[in-house]
Amino acid sequence: MKVVVIGSSNIDMVAQVNHLPAPGETVGDASFIQSLGGKGANQAVAAARLGGSVTFITSLGNDMYAEILKKHFKKEGIATDYIIDDVNQPTGTALIFVADSGENCIAVAPGANYSLLPGSIIHFSKVIDEADIIVMQAEIPYETIKRIALLAKQKGKKVLFNPAPACLIDEELMKAIDILVVNELEAAFISGIEYTGNNLEEIALSLLQAGARNAVITLGSQGVYMKNDKEIIQLPGYKVNAIDTIAAGDTFCGALAVICAQREIDRDALSFANAAAAIAVTRSGAQPSIPTLTEVNAFIH
Ligand code: ADP
Repeated sequence: MKVVVIGSSNIDMVAQVNHLPAPGETVGDASFIQSLGGKGANQAVAAARLGGSVTFITSLGNDMYAEILKKHFKKEGIATDYIIDDVNQPTGTALIFVADSGENCIAVAPGANYSLLPGSIIHFSKVIDEADIIVMQAEIPYETIKRIALLAKQKGKKVLFNPAPACLIDEELMKAIDILVVNELEAAFISGIEYTGNNLEEIALSLLQAGARNAVITLGSQGVYMKNDKEIIQLPGYKVNAIDTIAAGDTFCGALAVICAQREIDRDALSFANAAAAIAVTRSGAQPSIPTLTEVNAFIH
């Protein structure tokens, strides 16, 4: 299963604080954790741990993090040959404050992620030729996503697009998407239909009419809903002790991409992704929470 993930890499810098600092205030008793994130990187790691042969195309900056990330991806078994080094930007960074109350505030500096432009990627046409499925998210420039999706479609490749953070999708791009994976908020934003709790079919239909071949709507602890022109599949969430939902959606997408690389989306594929993401929510952190194939198989059986 050859999976090519094209997307963001971030360094997440998290300060756990007693309370969020007010403007001008210094909070002096923070504890600090640095972790590796970015939806692209998370989904690449998920696909690799879950059995995919993964190539990750991302853009890293002019700092020490570029080497740290490359080493990390290699350790995960991810091919890094197509990673771009941007000498003019820092590596993407998310600065996060989390208060003891659970409240947070976040500043994201996309840095090198925004220099993943169509011109810099288009000469990677060969890697798309060799892929079974192309996986993208919305933390890189829209025009890059669109160019890649159209190129992939032209080459007869499958495209899984996870428009997170939510972005509007034009008709040309929608028609190039085989598997659109959105949570209920993204689904409502993109379709322009408010989610009332019982109108998933209407929202999914609107996404299909806009051009996507399969509309997959993730529903947190409620599981997942999928509609295409043949069927509707709805699976409840696995009952687990959820402690941290960070990277649940990314684990879901990486898992689904591996399974759907060489076959059509079906109940088993959705169930596998639902299980992988359920395991991820029982553990804290983004990438540390992503399970391996052995763990998912043991969980399902
Ligand atoms: P996102 O993180 O993108 O908002 P969701 O919250 O919908 O996405 O979660 C993605 C998937 O993770 C869900 O479809 C489900 O498979 C799994 N998941 C999330 N939260 C839970 C939970 N509390 N219990 C079990 N599975 C969960």
